[in-house]
Amino acid sequence: GAYGRGARMVTHASRASSTPGCREVAVVGAGAAGLVAARELRRENLAVTVFERGSEVGGTWVYTANCGSTASSSSAYHIHSSLYESLRVNLPKEIMGYSDFPFLENSGSRYCGHAEVKDYLRSFVQHFDLESMLEMNTLVEEAEPAEGGKWRLRVRPRGDQEGHDRVFDAVVVCNGHFESPKFPQGVGRENYSGSQLHSCDYKTSDDDRFVGKRVLVVGMGPSGDDLCREVAEVASKVYWSGRGFDRFDEERLRSVRSSLRGNIILRGNVASVSGKVVTFEKGSEDPVEVDTILWCTGYHYTVPFLKGSGAVQTERGRIEPLYEHLFHPKFGPKLSFVGLGFRILPFPFFEIQTRWVARCLSGRCSLPTEQEMAAEAEAFYGGIEGEGARVDMTHCMDGVQWDYLDRVARNSGGAPKLEDWKIGLYEINRVKKARHPKEYRDLTLPEEVPLMEKGAARAQSF
Ligand code: FAD
Repeated sequence: GAYGRGARMVTHASRASSTPGCREVAVVGAGAAGLVAARELRRENLAVTVFERGSEVGGTWVYTANCGSTASSSSAYHIHSSLYESLRVNLPKEIMGYSDFPFLENSGSRYCGHAEVKDYLRSFVQHFDLESMLEMNTLVEEAEPAEGGKWRLRVRPRGDQEGHDRVFDAVVVCNGHFESPKFPQGVGRENYSGSQLHSCDYKTSDDDRFVGKRVLVVGMGPSGDDLCREVAEVASKVYWSGRGFDRFDEERLRSVRSSLRGNIILRGNVASVSGKVVTFEKGSEDPVEVDTILWCTGYHYTVPFLKGSGAVQTERGRIEPLYEHLFHPKFGPKLSFVGLGFRILPFPFFEIQTRWVARCLSGRCSLPTEQEMAAEAEAFYGGIEGEGARVDMTHCMDGVQWDYLDRVARNSGGAPKLEDWKIGLYEINRVKKARHPKEYRDLTLPEEVPLMEKGAARAQSF
C-alpha cells in the first residue's frame, strides 16, 4: 500500500517453539475485540478472564448522554464512549458482525443506530455463554512480566482501595483506541477564546455552543463528516476544515459540495488560532471568526497499564514494536494487541486476529522466532519513516486490509478467510459513501443486492 503496509512475509519455515503450558489468559476490555477474544481463546480450551472497568459489555457502543472524556461522572470505571446520540453505523449491518453470529435484528435500516450494536454484543455474550469469564467493574492498573514467562496484573475492583495481583500466562490487550482525544499541535489552540470541544465529547447539537453560532468543524474523518452536517442544521454557519480537501479531484469536491447545506463552507487545514480568529494554510483563504471549534481530529493510542513494563511505546501515534500489528516480538503470543488497525471492517478484523492469538497460545500454530519478528517489525516501522509517510498512519489498513487478513488466517493454521461477499459489500460501501456522502445510509445500490442475498443465505445457515 501507499505506506508500505503490505509487510514482507516471513516464511514461517523456521518456527519458534509454540507456547506449551499456556493456560490462563487475561483479556483487558470487554468491547467488541475483548468479547470475541474471549470466545476464540475458550475455543482453544484456554482459561479466560476478561477484565472490564465498566459495568456493561460493549465498550464504544455503551452510549449514555454523559459518556465523553469530560463527563461529569468520569472516573476510572467510566466507559468512555466517543459516540453521539444520532450515530448510525457507517457499514451495512450484513458485514459488521462476527462470522457466525450475524446481525439478525431487523430494525428496518441496514445502517442501524448505536443501540442495536450494543444489543448485538450483549446477545453475543449470551449466545456464546461468555458471562462467566467476565470480571466487570474491574480496572487493570498495571501489567508487567513476571517470573517463569508469566504476566502479573494489578487489578482493582470498583470500591476496592488497594487492588490485588493476579498472575496469567498471557495478556490480550483489547482496550480500544477511541478514547484519548488528539488535537493538532502548534496551531495555538490554547489561544482560542471561544468554546472548543473534541468530537469525543459531542453528544447532540442541541447545545448553546452550536445553536445559532458560527462553528468550525476540523477533520474529515467519519466523525467530522457526520457532525459538520448535524451541526449545520442548527448553526448559523459552519466552516468545515480538512487537510484532504486540497487533494480531492474536481468530481469528488463537487459531490461533497452538492451534499452539503448552503451554510457549510469548505476550508483547508487550520494554520493558527488566536482570539476567535482562525487562519488556514492556503494563503488564498480568508481568516474567519468563529464562536465554537469542534475538533474531530482523532485519538491517541494509549496503554497506561503497560507503562511501567517498558514493553511498548505509544507516543508516536502507533504501538511499537509489534509484529503484524499484533504481537510483541519479545513476548510472542503472550502479549498481543487486538484491533489497532483503522479504516477496517472492525468486528471481523478482531475475530480473525484473535483466532491467530488463541491458536498460538494453545500451541496449535506458532510464530516466527523473536529475532525474526523483531527484524520484521523493525523493517516495517522503519520503512514507513523511510518513505516519509506519516508515522501515525502505521496502523492504517486502507488498501492492505484484505491481504493482511488473508495472511493472518493463513498463519492461523488454515482458519477460515473473510468471505468474498463481505469484502465486496465493504468496497461498494466505500465508493457509495464517497459518491453519496449524505444519503449513503439510505441507499441500496443494485450491485449490492446479489451480495446481500449471499449474506442472507449464509445467515440462514446459523
Ligand atoms: P472499545 O469498544 O473501546 O472497548 C474497550 C474496552 O476496554 C472498554 O469497554 C473499556 O472500558 C475497557 N478498558 C480499557 N482500559 C481498561 C483497563 N485498564 N481495565 C479494564 N478495562 C479497560 N465500528 C463499526 O464496525 N461500525 C461503525 O459504524 C463504527 N462507527 C464508529 C463511530 C465512532 C464515533 C467511533 C469512535 C468508532 C466507531 N466504530 C465503528 C469503531 C468501534 O470502535 C469498533 O467497532 C469497536 O467497537 C472497537 O472495539 P474495541 O473492543 O477495540 O474497543
